[in-house]
Amino acid sequence: MTPRVVSICVSLLVAGIVVVAFASVVTRPPERSFAKHFEAGVYVCATCRQPLFESRAKFASTTRWPSFRAAVESSVAEREDRSEGLERTEILCRQCNAHLGHVFDDGERTGDDHPDAGLRYCVLSSALEFEGEARE
Ligand SMILES: [Zn+2]
Repeated sequence: MTPRVVSICVSLLVAGIVVVAFASVVTRPPERSFAKHFEAGVYVCATCRQPLFESRAKFASTTRWPSFRAAVESSVAEREDRSEGLERTEILCRQCNAHLGHVFDDGERTGDDHPDAGLRYCVLSSALEFEGEARE
């Protein structure tokens, strides 16, 4: 075996290990994120399954959190949040009081030019479950 052939064999072996490692990261369940998820359906509360956000209200935010222009009517409660030295508006599931994230009024500054842009419901992926329209 020439040195060149040995080098190629090592490269393939390393590539194989990288592929296996990458696959195990992708399939690990708790790291789920809906930030770049754009299927038609409704996002429901992960705790009580109340519908909270419709997929058509979702927009591509530059943040790593799923972002919505609006919540399903009467589904979300708001509460003043002064923790961490910030003045924010916390959002909670109106039915089970689960913490969902925060709502901001900087929606138009996230690179979104939709006419309804303005509010940005910034929601934790872990607080949501998705129900696609096809599954009904
Ligand atoms: Zn709930």
